[in-house]
Amino acid sequence: MPKTSERTSVFGESVIRRMTRVANAHGAINLSQGFPDFDPPAELLAAAEAAARKGPHQYAVTWGAPNYREALARKHSRHTGLSIDPNSQIVVTCGSTEAMMAAMMTACNPGDKVVIFSPFYENYVADTILSGAEPIYVPLRPPAFGFDEQELRRAFEQRPKAIILCNPSNPSGKVFTREELLLIAGLAEEFDTWVITDEVYEHILYAPHRHLSFATLPGMFERTITCGSLSKTYSITGWRLGHLIAPAAFINEAKKVHDFLTVGAAAPLMEAAVTALQLPDSYYEGLVASYTEKRDVFLGALDRAGLTYTRPDGAYYDMVDISEFGHADDTAFAEWLIRDVGVAGVPGSSFFREPVRHLIRFHFAKKTETLTAAGERLLALRGRNRLFKGA
Ligand code: GLN
Repeated sequence: MPKTSERTSVFGESVIRRMTRVANAHGAINLSQGFPDFDPPAELLAAAEAAARKGPHQYAVTWGAPNYREALARKHSRHTGLSIDPNSQIVVTCGSTEAMMAAMMTACNPGDKVVIFSPFYENYVADTILSGAEPIYVPLRPPAFGFDEQELRRAFEQRPKAIILCNPSNPSGKVFTREELLLIAGLAEEFDTWVITDEVYEHILYAPHRHLSFATLPGMFERTITCGSLSKTYSITGWRLGHLIAPAAFINEAKKVHDFLTVGAAAPLMEAAVTALQLPDSYYEGLVASYTEKRDVFLGALDRAGLTYTRPDGAYYDMVDISEFGHADDTAFAEWLIRDVGVAGVPGSSFFREPVRHLIRFHFAKKTETLTAAGERLLALRGRNRLFKGA
């Protein structure tokens, strides 16, 4: 049999997606892969029903249906103050997953370097390798997830083609400060680097934190590719609606990459999602209030279980410290937790370049009752820390 490409042997399958399969096989409460178990907004479901009947059911314009791009440009402008041209500065993609891949393939040549903060969302490494580039890692050190300015400078001195910035950050829950972002901006300018931002959690920040879109920093629009999605904001991770927003010259090239990758996002879902993009400010305020409550419910449950964790400022993940369980293998711990405790998380090692084996990531994008039930199961960990033998 002929061999498969070397490229694919460099990275493994997604641990996040694998943990979901293991959780389902054991009937565990799934706090691994981050997606809600509650409904999207009712208006959006009604619009989806109407779109199912009325269409469109055939291909839309490859870079996104015009009415969807117009609604997205208006919404983005309203929230960031940037004025976006829906025809020349947007490509609608199949989720932010495709947006990141298309951004990387558009920005990078084989052999280029790409700066990735560690911990990172798993896809960034695969995206980098699939686009022929090579990652340079800069650590964000737990528990505060700060970075060392000199370390970042040394990474830029290797003349990377791009840096990937996830803000608010998955899995750490870090929200980069204005000063940190300005520092990154200064280096990007000095070394003429693209900044590829993953801003899918742009509407999930906890007070007093507020989202600062990287492209709004002085002079940054011209070198920023903003990847976004409707998945987290409107609780529709399965609809696969994402986008790239960038300067027209970049978008011109990205349109071709996207076209040959997927042709386009689902036409009836774009039609329906125009309704979501037109929701008033009160929707976003409600979203923050609801996630703040979920965070507090879940962190309260972790307190009751006697666990130590990082408190997120944004996104919907927290990292629980399992050092006190005295085991060096977080993957074995996560599998034990699924089987014996009935709660699924993601082993922290899958997000780190460094040998970090003492963290498990849980997400709390779930109904309060799901989080409460998970909390009750996690109570089993109290005083049972000697029971886990890593089997
Ligand atoms: N962003 C989610 C997570 O980190 C899931 C994304 C995905 O599986 N596509 O869990």
